[in-house]
Parts: sequence; C-alpha cells; structure tokens
Amino acid sequence: MDISVVIPLYNEEESISELFEWIKHVMTANSFTYEVIFINDGSTDGSWKKIQEMSNQNSTVRGVKFRRNYGKSAALYQGFKKAQGNVVITMDADLQDSPDEIPDFYRMITEEGYDLVSGYKKKRYDPLSKTLPTKLFNATARKVSGIHNLHDFNCGMKAYRLQVVKNIEVYGEMHRYIPYLAKTAGFSRIGEKVVHHQARKYGHTKFGGLNRFFNGYLDLLSLWFLTQFGLKPMHVFGFLGSVMFFIGFVAIIIVGATKLMAITHGLHAPLVTSSPYFYIALTMMILGTQLFMTGFVGELISRDAPNRNNYQVEDEI
Ligand code: UDP
Ligand code: MG
Repeated sequence: MDISVVIPLYNEEESISELFEWIKHVMTANSFTYEVIFINDGSTDGSWKKIQEMSNQNSTVRGVKFRRNYGKSAALYQGFKKAQGNVVITMDADLQDSPDEIPDFYRMITEEGYDLVSGYKKKRYDPLSKTLPTKLFNATARKVSGIHNLHDFNCGMKAYRLQVVKNIEVYGEMHRYIPYLAKTAGFSRIGEKVVHHQARKYGHTKFGGLNRFFNGYLDLLSLWFLTQFGLKPMHVFGFLGSVMFFIGFVAIIIVGATKLMAITHGLHAPLVTSSPYFYIALTMMILGTQLFMTGFVGELISRDAPNRNNYQVEDEI
C-alpha cells in the first residue's frame, strides 16, 4: 500500500464526508493505493455514523472510535498503530488542510529521501490570537529541539516514512512536537513543505485559550528534560547530589577540626552551632542526599513505565 491517511477528529461531522471525497479524488487521479483511517476521538456528534457510512461504501475507509475524548495525540498514536502504507500522511479533519498536497508529500518521502515532512502554513487563516503565540512557540521549539529548518512544528498536515510512526510514541499533548520525537528516535532527515491553508469551514477550533500556550511550553520543557536526562536521571541528580554532599561534608570536617584544634590548644572553643558554616554544611548534606535519592528513584522508574498508552477502544472497523 502506498499511503495511509490518518485523520484525528473530534466533532467534525460536517466536514469528514467532503474531506474523504476529496482525498479519494486525489488518490484515484494519481493511482495511489491507499487507506484512510479516521480516529474518532470521542465525538459527541454524528461523526462516527458518518464514518460507518463511508466505510460501508468504501473498502479504503477504516475507523477507530475512542470511548471518550483523549486528545489529538492519543488519536494520532492510535492511527499510527493501525497504519500500513509506506507513507503515512496526517491531516486535520476540518478541511483546513488540502488533500491536493498529498502527491507532493508522497514524492518528498519516496524520492527525496525525507523521513518526515512537515507542512508549513506560511499564509494562515486563523485569528491573530492563534498565530502570534504560535510564532513564539515555534521559535522556542526550534531552539530547544535543534531542528532549525522547521517553521511550523504543529501543522496538522505531515508525512512520514512508515518506520517513523512505528517507532515514535506520541502521548499526552506531544503532537505539537512530533518532529522532535522523530529526531530523538533517530530520524534526522526532516523537511518542510509550504502548504495552503484555509479558514475553518465548519465547526470551531478545539484548541483555544491560553492553556494551549502554557501547556505547550511545559510539554516542551519536559520533552527537553526527557531527551536530555530521561534515560539517565542519575547522571544529573546523582551528580548534583554528590557534589553538594561533598562540599557539605568538607565544610563540616573543617568546622569540627577547628573546634578540636581549639580544644587541644586549650583555647576558648565556641559551640559548632554558632558558626554559620555548620548550617550551610548541614543543608548541603541533606539536600545532596535528597538529590542523590531522587536520581536513584528516577533511575528505578525509568527502567519501565508501562500503561502509558492504554486506550479504551470501543469499536473498530
Ligand atoms: N482533534 C482531536 N481531538 C481533540 C481535539 C482536536 O482529534 O481533542 C482534532 C480536530 O477534530 C481536528 C484536529 O484535531 O481534526 C485539529 O484541531 P483544530 O482544527 O481544532 O485545531 P486548529 O486547526 O484550530 O489548531
Ligand atoms: Mg483546524
């Protein structure tokens, strides 16, 4: 199979039939073999019914229905698990992305050798409240991830070589950082393609508000920590802890030795607790031990974290 199109959707009943017809048209015109996988992320409208109808009439339509709304990342994760095509293309269900771009994406993966090609909505049809934070966000993501050639990390339209989606694990709200996940997994040929973008035709955005902004940054931060130290927490915490403990230990020796010297020379020896260094040493040793233990516990946890991606799939086609 040439192409799997993975489409996460949450309450998009008005658009999905139109979207599928359009995809079908493009695929037929280019004689691609393909499947379209709709991941119904707990929609409360008639989306699943629409998917069932489409699937009855077209053998190329597959669907997964979540029992409740888990978020776009979970939907993508599930779609990636099902995908079989040599090239996997993700797109939003709201008709903001154009299926006409599919052949070009396909060519960039199969002929130009990219592992991942991300869409770039150069001219966006979204309100300023969305585009401005996005600019900031992308600049930070570029810096942190080291993928300097991407302008638009969070574009819904992307193409992947099949191995990429089988070897990355999108979870939480990490769909914003899939290129970073791919890079971390060792897929470094990451490209970009300018895509046409349209204003939302039906329904409304599922990602509004300030939350999006803060959560995005926190996710980036944890991703950075994870890739930097996730597999070796001991190297960070253990190191810091040991250094602090060592400094504290040396300081307490000095405090103790000074006192002993004073006593042996018969001088007036003040209480060790009257020296500020005593308290500094004490704090350093306690904090050092705690950091060290944190590193060790982290090490134990990072050995295996199961159940991170257990979703309740209610129905499958
Ligand atoms: N989506 C989803 N689960 C959610 C929220 C959104 O599957 O919890 C889907 C949504 O239906 C759409 C895509 O993710 O197909 C992008 O969402 P949206 O168009 O609302 O985001 P925007 O384009 O405004 O950034
Ligand atoms: Mg949209």
